[in-house]
Amino acid sequence: MKKIKNGFIVKEGNNLQKVTIYIEDGKIRFVMPGNDNSYEVSEEVDAEGNVVFSGFIDPHVHFDDPGFTDREDFETGTRSAAAGGITTIIDMPCTSIPPVTSGDNFDNKLNIVSKKAYIDFAFWGGVTPEQIKNGEYKKTLRELKDRGIVGVKFYTISGMDLYPRMPVPQMHRAFEYLKKLNLICGVHAEDFYLVDFYSSLLQKQGRSDPYAWFEGRVYQAEAEAIWSVIGITQKVGNKLHIVHLSSKEGLHAVKWGKTHGIDITTETCPHYLLFNVEDLTRMGAILKTAPPVRRKEDNLALWEGLKDGTIDFISTDHAAGKFPEEKSGPNIWKDYAGIPGTQLVASTIIMYAHHENGFTLEKVQKLLSENAARRYGLYPLKGSLNIGTDADFTIVNINEEFTVDATKLESKGKYSPLNGSKLRGKVKKTIVRGEVVFDDKVGVLNKKGFGKLVKSML
Ligand SMILES: [Zn+2]
Repeated sequence: MKKIKNGFIVKEGNNLQKVTIYIEDGKIRFVMPGNDNSYEVSEEVDAEGNVVFSGFIDPHVHFDDPGFTDREDFETGTRSAAAGGITTIIDMPCTSIPPVTSGDNFDNKLNIVSKKAYIDFAFWGGVTPEQIKNGEYKKTLRELKDRGIVGVKFYTISGMDLYPRMPVPQMHRAFEYLKKLNLICGVHAEDFYLVDFYSSLLQKQGRSDPYAWFEGRVYQAEAEAIWSVIGITQKVGNKLHIVHLSSKEGLHAVKWGKTHGIDITTETCPHYLLFNVEDLTRMGAILKTAPPVRRKEDNLALWEGLKDGTIDFISTDHAAGKFPEEKSGPNIWKDYAGIPGTQLVASTIIMYAHHENGFTLEKVQKLLSENAARRYGLYPLKGSLNIGTDADFTIVNINEEFTVDATKLESKGKYSPLNGSKLRGKVKKTIVRGEVVFDDKVGVLNKKGFGKLVKSML
């Protein structure tokens, strides 16, 4: 048995309670008030008076392994997550070769990434329009369900050759089957026709400046696509999740769904909360994402959406481009759309949600841990401090400040729109199933291959 001493867990609101946490076989065994010495232990972890959160989860990352490992791989991705206080990530099915669209492809990816993972991970599964047309999808989605995927990812617009966009008829059939399998349908929502036409038009006009990216990814395209998939979900009755929500009008559509009996959830990312098109114009490709960052009023609306619960949790959509070559070109269309965000998300949310926007620590813990775990069937094993569940913790000095140095990120993508800015809320230790995988004093510890697959219990 081991214990964590001198730590404070979050009770209600901002109330903290000093506790001693005993861990046995990677599970939480006892949580005792104050400094407790009731049980003999072989190892002590000193939380040094800091807050011990239930381990943070990043439910939307692209770690690119196998296939696009010149951008990121599971080793650098999970090291980056560990250094940022993330104890579990959920990896997307589409940014690896082959994509996770069958049991064999899942097994292949699992075999490769298991040897590299520093923290625990779950997988999103995938399906292509071709598989739906030829009827293969029922077999492959069943295989993926049996292997524990948290949900299936859909794109209404896609830049990926191996993972094309899903037209309405095929999406309807997939949603019907996924309802039977009780799996979440995750959707990247931007209307293809609007974005495709106006992006092409701007390119024909010779525009290649960062603002053209914002203009081409038409503002209304997000809400338009969300309304479409809500329309399908209202007929089918499946579970729907909108990924990386970026706009006030998109939020409005999600809110309509929530108040009209649709089983819909959503997430947003730090860049949609903190940055807007003025920053994109100034920073250029560093801040290029899809969907793009929007306007100041969208930033404000998303904060309101988080506050009132319309937005259920935070993700990063971590996607590292090759830096600098894919993130600094003179032509915005040619640059890579994505930011490696997993290492900074916890500090960013503690600073901007808690310190600047008055979110309680309880709310922060829900947004970064519990809510995603519940939605994806990982709770209470992950996302809780219940006795008998995985001893995953993120220990944070919520008042310690530091300046972001992107060159020191563990990710292969050593860039960030936050580079050079000050954050308040420093991750001191990351603990996965009772093992310290990151310690602020020494860095990421040598635990390569320790991370394990977590299966959805949905
Ligand atoms: Zn993504």
